[in-house]
Amino acid sequence: MQSNSLTGRHALVTGAARGIGAEIARTLAAEGAVLTLLGRDREALQRVADSLAGGGHGVVAADVASPEAVQAAFAEARAARGPVAVLVNNAGAAESAPFLKTSFELWQRMLSVNLTGSFLCAQAALPDMLDTGWGRIVNIASTAGQKGYAYVAAYTAAKHGVIGLTRSLALEVARKGITVNAVCPGYTDTDILRNSVANVVGKTGRSEADALAEFSSVNPQKRIVQPSEVADAVRWLCGPGAASVTGQSISVSGGEVT
Ligand code: NAP
Repeated sequence: MQSNSLTGRHALVTGAARGIGAEIARTLAAEGAVLTLLGRDREALQRVADSLAGGGHGVVAADVASPEAVQAAFAEARAARGPVAVLVNNAGAAESAPFLKTSFELWQRMLSVNLTGSFLCAQAALPDMLDTGWGRIVNIASTAGQKGYAYVAAYTAAKHGVIGLTRSLALEVARKGITVNAVCPGYTDTDILRNSVANVVGKTGRSEADALAEFSSVNPQKRIVQPSEVADAVRWLCGPGAASVTGQSISVSGGEVT
């Protein structure tokens, strides 16, 4: 294994059963990493694992918001594939509601999966990285971590929290061979966006094409980001050329955040 390459390194991606997470898993596997895919649906994860380049990949089932489940899943992953060298905190969910209709439960759900999940998984992975003196943590935040959007206060607060976590942890481990960064996609072509479009159609009666056009219009390039574009930013952050990049939040959004 070359000290700076991903070849043979154990990379754990959360929320890897579909969307951006599945694409990140495919991209890191193509770079030679050995993947653990973490999520709640073991069968869906296994289908992705079976499609990856290379061999030795595996899956673990856990809700990232459960401290016990996360600890058990990381122990299982470590026992099967060795110390975790790369962690991609990708699992997330985006529920919308006007602020006064944001229930305590919705608020807690958004903080739990998007922010607490990243905290729990980083705590579970970091000891391996400190032991080996090398690690890459990439948190998939959002442009909603970099600016505000109406009707998604809980999600936006959680993603701003992810960026705060990224900045602080990066400084704490800066001298340990570990980088911690965030990738912040704009609207990206996955189930999250499809659900948001369906939500707008259901609530306003507008057509699906109209709703989608509105999401595209916030991107200065007037298009929806592709999962592969997000995955490529993750690949670069995990590679040798990005060793001095840490604590950063990289917007993959066609210039929506400048
Ligand atoms: P997606 O297609 O809905 O995938 C979300 C993934 O997260 C699924 O694999 C899901 O797996 C997993 N997940 C959700 N809750 C979980 C939990 N409690 N524990 C473990 N896994 C959980 O969404 P996506 O668009 O690819 O989103 C990936 C990340 O990108 C999220 O953090 C999202 O906030 C961020 N993002 C997306 C967009 C966008 O427009 N798509 C924009 C900015 C940021 P199961 O449900 O099978 O467990």
